[in-house]
Amino acid sequence: MILIVAEHAGGKLAKSTLEMVTAARESGREGPVTVLVLGQGVAEIANAAAAVADQVLVADLPALATYNAELWAAATAQIAQEGEAHTVVIGGSRSGREYAPRVAVRLDAPYLEDAIHLASTGTALQAQRYTYLARVTETVEAEGPVVVVSVKPGAFAPAAPLAAPGEQYDVELDLPAPRVEVTGRSLEKTSRVALTEADVIVTGGRGVGNPENFSRYVEGLADRLGAGVGATRAVVDAGWRPYAEQVGQTGKTVQPKAYVALGVSGAVQHLSGMGKSRYIVAINKDAEAPIFKVADYGIVGDVNQIVPALIEAARK
Ligand code: FAD
Repeated sequence: MILIVAEHAGGKLAKSTLEMVTAARESGREGPVTVLVLGQGVAEIANAAAAVADQVLVADLPALATYNAELWAAATAQIAQEGEAHTVVIGGSRSGREYAPRVAVRLDAPYLEDAIHLASTGTALQAQRYTYLARVTETVEAEGPVVVVSVKPGAFAPAAPLAAPGEQYDVELDLPAPRVEVTGRSLEKTSRVALTEADVIVTGGRGVGNPENFSRYVEGLADRLGAGVGATRAVVDAGWRPYAEQVGQTGKTVQPKAYVALGVSGAVQHLSGMGKSRYIVAINKDAEAPIFKVADYGIVGDVNQIVPALIEAARK
C-alpha cells in the first residue's frame, strides 16, 4: 500500500493532504492509497480523508494531541511496517520535513525530499525536485522494499472526492515516551487564509509601488475576496513583505482556483510557482508584460486606478 500521513490543523484536513493523494495516484505505485490520521479528536478529519482515499487508518489518542516529531515518526514507521507499505508519503511542511527522515531511518529506507513530480520506473520511485535555489530541476530515483518521500506543498492539484468514501479503521500504536516535549504554542492571530490553503490569492508585485499601496490594494482586495496574500520576490527582497508570502520557484508553489496578479511582470521564476492556478487574472500597465501570456483575464492599466474600483465593486 501507499501510506500517506495526513496533515491537519484546527480540526480540518489540510489541502496538502489532498495534494499528497494526487501525488500518490500519479506516482504509478500500486496498491490502495491509504491515509493515516494521527491526532486526538480527529473523527471529522478522518471523514474528510476518507472522501478521497481508498482507506483511512485512524490513531485517535491523547498522546497525539500535539504534533511531536518523535511520536509522528514512531507511529508512521510502525503502521508502514504492519501494513507493508512500499511508499510512505509525508507533507513537505516544516514538521513533515522534520520527521520524514526519522521515518526513513526507522524503516531503513531511502528518502526523497520535496518532490514536485512522482513517477514509477520499474520497481523504483522517481521524483523531481528543485535544487540550487530552484535554478535546476533534478530527477532522483530510489529503490527498495519501502521508499519515503516528502511532497512540496502546492506542487500537485488537490484530489477530488471519490464516488464512494474509503473504509476507516482504528489502529493501535505502541508509542515511545518522547524526549522532546512541546510546552507551549501561540497561534498567530490572523483572519486571513493561509497561502497554501487559499482558493483565491491576490498577489502584489513591484508595480504596486510601495508597501503602503500593497496594504491598501493587495490586502484590501484580498480581504474583500476572503483571499490569501502573495508577493513576488522583488517585493520580498525590497522588504515590503515577509518571505512567507513569496510565490515562485524560491517561494511557495500554489494552485488556487483564482490567482489575481497586481503589478506583477510574470517572470518565469514567478510563473513556476503559480502557473497551474485554474484562472489567472492580471492587472499591469504594460500590455507586453509576460503575465498576460498566461492570464485568462487581463486588464491593461494602472493598479492605482483599477484596484480601488474593484475593491469598491467587491464591497457592494
Ligand atoms: P518587476 O519585474 O519589476 O515587474 C513589475 C511590473 O509591474 C511590470 O510588469 C510593470 O509593467 C508593472 N507596473 C509598474 N507600475 C504599474 C502600475 N502602476 N500599474 C500596473 N502595473 C504596473 N520571483 C518571484 O516572484 N518568486 C520567486 O520565487 C523567484 N525566485 C527566483 C529565483 C531565482 C534563482 C532568480 C534568478 C529570480 C527569482 N525571482 C523570483 C525573481 C524574478 O526573476 C523577478 O525578478 C520577479 O518575479 C519580478 O517581480 P515583480 O513582477 O514584482 O517586479
